Amino acid sequence: MFHVKQDDRFDVMVVGGGHAGTEAASAAARMGTRTALVTHRFDTVGAMSCNPAIGGLGKGHLVREIDALDGLMARVADAAGIQFRVLNRSKGPAVRGPRAQADRKLYAAAMRQTIRETVNLTVIEAAVEDLAVRDGRVVGVVFADGVVLQCGAIVLTTGTFLRGMIHIGERKIAAGRMGEAPSVGLAATLERAGFRLGRLKTGTPPRLDGNSIDWAGLERQRGDDPPEPFSELTDRISARQIDCHLTATTPETHALIEENLARSPLFSGQIGSRGPRYCPSIEDKVVRFADRKHHQIFLEPEGIDDDTIYPNGISTSLPEEVQAAMVATIPGLERARITKPGYAIEYDHVDPRELELTLECKRMRGLFLAGQINGTTGYEEAAAQGVLAGVNAAAVAGGGNGEVISRAEAYLGVMIDDLVTRGVSEPYRMFTSRAEYRLSLRADNADQRLTPIGLRLGLVGEERAKRFMEKKAELERLRSQLAELTMTPDKARAAGIHVNRDGVRRTALEFLSFPGVDVDRLRAIWPEIGPHRPATERLIETDARYAAFIRRQEREVRTFEREEGAALPEIDVDAISGLSNEVREKIRLVRPRSLGQASRIEGMTPAALALLLASARKNSRRAEG
Ligand code: FAD
Repeated sequence: MFHVKQDDRFDVMVVGGGHAGTEAASAAARMGTRTALVTHRFDTVGAMSCNPAIGGLGKGHLVREIDALDGLMARVADAAGIQFRVLNRSKGPAVRGPRAQADRKLYAAAMRQTIRETVNLTVIEAAVEDLAVRDGRVVGVVFADGVVLQCGAIVLTTGTFLRGMIHIGERKIAAGRMGEAPSVGLAATLERAGFRLGRLKTGTPPRLDGNSIDWAGLERQRGDDPPEPFSELTDRISARQIDCHLTATTPETHALIEENLARSPLFSGQIGSRGPRYCPSIEDKVVRFADRKHHQIFLEPEGIDDDTIYPNGISTSLPEEVQAAMVATIPGLERARITKPGYAIEYDHVDPRELELTLECKRMRGLFLAGQINGTTGYEEAAAQGVLAGVNAAAVAGGGNGEVISRAEAYLGVMIDDLVTRGVSEPYRMFTSRAEYRLSLRADNADQRLTPIGLRLGLVGEERAKRFMEKKAELERLRSQLAELTMTPDKARAAGIHVNRDGVRRTALEFLSFPGVDVDRLRAIWPEIGPHRPATERLIETDARYAAFIRRQEREVRTFEREEGAALPEIDVDAISGLSNEVREKIRLVRPRSLGQASRIEGMTPAALALLLASARKNSRRAEG
C-alpha cells in the first residue's frame, strides 16, 4: 500500500473504506479528481459488518440508483451474489425490492479488486486522527504520527467507529467493529469544532457453525430462477446459487430471554442510545411483542465455501452463555455451535442537520460526511450517500458548487432531504413509504432517472454510457411503434382483449394498460413488433400500466419543484416576530434553502411558513431596491 509523504497532495481525501467510503472515493476518482482513500486496513475494504446481503425493500432501489450513477455496489453484489430474490414480487412494481445474499469473501474481494483498478485513486492504510482547518475550511488530514496531508476536500465515512463501544452482556470493549480499534481522535475533533453529536446503537447476531445445525425438517427457501442481476452492466450471474432455510424462536426462547433481560445491556441501563426500530434485537422483539409465540429466523449461509451461518432475526447483546442457551431452544439449532457471539455497538454520529443537501458541512466548508456517521443504518444507505458526497467533494475541490438530487428524482434524494431537514432520533433506514413519488421512482427505471445526471457530471464510464444509449434508443423505438399501431374494439375483442364496443381506436401502448396485456400478447397481434431486451419490454409495460397515475404524480412533482425552486435567502429568524422558539431554533439549525425544504422541517406550521415567506419577500425587495 501507499505510504504517506508529507509533500503529497490530493484533491479529495476520503476517510474510511466502508460502504460509503469506497463509493465516495470511486465517484471522486471517476470525476477525474486526484483522490486518496485513507482507511485503517485495506483488507477490511468491502467488509460487511453485519448481514451478508445487499438490497431489500427500499434498499434495493438505492442499489439500483448507485448503479445508475456508475457506482460499485450493484456490480460487486452481482459478482458475489449467491441467492437473488425480488421481494414483494406479488405487489406493484413500485414497491418491489431486489435483494441478493452475498458470499462475504467474494464481496470483499470483488470490492478490493475494483478499488485497486480505479484510476486516479490511491489507497493509504492509516488512521486519521484530526483535521487541518484554516479560516473555517478543511485543508488537510492529520495522521496519528502527526503527518499532515493537504487536500481540497474531505469526505468522512467512519461508520460505527467514532468512539465505538461494543457490549456483550456486562462486558464492554472499546471498538469500531469486533477486533478493530475505535476512532477517538476524530470524534474529539468534531466535538471541539462544535458539531452536534448524538449516540446511536446497532447490533448483530451470533454466527453459527453450519455443520452443527440439524437441517432436516427446516423449511427451505430458494432464490429466483433465473437470478436477476442488480447492475445494468451484468449480463448474467455466475456464482453458484444456494438455498436458505427458515426456523423460528419458541416460547422457551422467549422465557429464557425474559429471565435474563437484566443481563442485557439494552435493558440493564448500560446502553442508553437508540437502535434501529425496524431491525430490533431479539430482546427488544420479545419485550415489544409479548403476545407473539414465535419470531422468524432466516438461516443464511455466509458463503459458498464457508460453513458459517448468519441467523437473521436474533441480533443480541446478551452474555455469551445466555446466547448459547437461547440458540439451543430453536428448532434445528439444538446442538448448534456459536463461532462468534452477537454484540451491540454504540457509536457517535453527527446530527445530519449540520449538512447541506450536497452533504457538505455548514460549519466547516470542504468537509463532507456520508454513511453511518450521519445517523443512517445499512450498507445501501451508506453507499448511496457516498456517491453523492464523492461527486460533490470533487466539485468543491475543483472550485465548483456541487449537485443536489431532489426527492422527485431518487430515493437518494428522499433520504438526504429527510436527514438534512428532519435530523434523526433513531438509525435511519430506507423504506419505499418514505418516497412520495413512488410510482415514478421505481427500481426498474433508476437508470432512466439518474444515468443522464451521471453523464452530465462526467461520472459515468464508457461501457455504461454505451449501454444506456442503446437501451434508450430501443425504448424510444418501441414506444413510438406502440403509439402508432392501432386497432378497433372489435379487433381487440377478437384477439381476446376485453374492451367496450365504443368504436374508439386505441393504440397498442394504450392496450398495455389493460389487465393481462403485455408486449408478448401484442406481438401475437402485430408480428412487426420484433423482439427486444426483456428489461426494455417490462419497463414499457409498467410505464403504460401506471400511465394515468404517473401523469397525476407528475403534476404533484411540478408543484413540488415550484416550491423547491422558491429559494429562501439566509434568514434572520430573530427578526421575524410570531415564530415559536422551537421553530426558530430548528430554522437556525437546518437553514432551509427553499420554501419546500422549510415546509418539511418538523413542527413547521402553515402560519410559520407564511411568516418566513413574507420575510424572504421583504428581504429580496430590500436587496432589489
Ligand atoms: P463502515 O462500513 O463501518 O466503514 C467505516 C470505515 O471507516 C472502516 O473501513 C474503518 O476502518 C474506517 N475508519 C473509521 N475511522 C477511521 C479513521 N479515523 N481513519 C481511517 N479509517 C477509519 N446495518 C443494517 O442495516 N442492519 C443491521 O442489522 C446492522 N447491524 C450492524 C451491526 C454491527 C455490529 C455493525 C458494526 C454494523 C451494523 N449495521 C447494520 C450497519 C452497517 O454495517 C453500516 O450501516 C454500514 O457498514 C455503514 O457503512 P459506512 O461506510 O458508513 O461505515
